[in-house]
Amino acid sequence: MDRLEAFAKEENVPIMQKDGIEFLEDYIKKHNVKNILEIGTAIAYSAIRMASLDKNIKITTIERNEKMYNYALKNINQFGKQNQINIIFNDALEVDLDDKFDLIFIDAAKAQYINFFEKFKKNLKSDGVIISDNLDFHGLADNVENIESKNLRALMKKLNNYKNFLKENKEFNTEFYSIGDGISISKINQNG
Ligand code: SAH
Ligand code: MG
Repeated sequence: MDRLEAFAKEENVPIMQKDGIEFLEDYIKKHNVKNILEIGTAIAYSAIRMASLDKNIKITTIERNEKMYNYALKNINQFGKQNQINIIFNDALEVDLDDKFDLIFIDAAKAQYINFFEKFKKNLKSDGVIISDNLDFHGLADNVENIESKNLRALMKKLNNYKNFLKENKEFNTEFYSIGDGISISKINQNG
């Protein structure tokens, strides 16, 4: 794991932050999560950590970047997790799944978060949760007006749209946590 963390740092791969991944691991253990869908594999750091918690955990993870996909495959094999982690090489928005999951973890292109959420909510078990990462976006989220880059500003707006979408959503109740780079947990509203 240290090796993967060092590699991610060198190659600027945005893997989960330490307290963020620990928060996710605690959630998985506490709620006995067994079936996970992850959007955004990168080098499979988070997937391997989650799979290492219990041999009965099964993860489907989606990655569209070929270079990352190849790193991920190699790492999954090196850690001997091929039986637990199924990696799909495609854009998540092109992938249709029938399986139902206890946990859907969204950790990919921020501009697409609403689309990922809307697309994959049908794959959530009725007592499952959707967890999203990077909602604070390195602390920039509360400071959009001061951002110089136009692209970054547009991205931050999308991210804030996603947060509002979650806040106003009647189908799901969402809690926000200032942990790692900002994490949310959305549960199906059982009264809705
Ligand atoms: N979950 C990983 C980090 C993921 S980084 C960890 O914590 O270890 C985000 C990844 O999402 C990048 O590798 C990027 O290529 C991928 N990604 C972004 N948009 C995507 C999409 N639409 N479909 C699939 N993968 C996507
Ligand atoms: Mg992330």
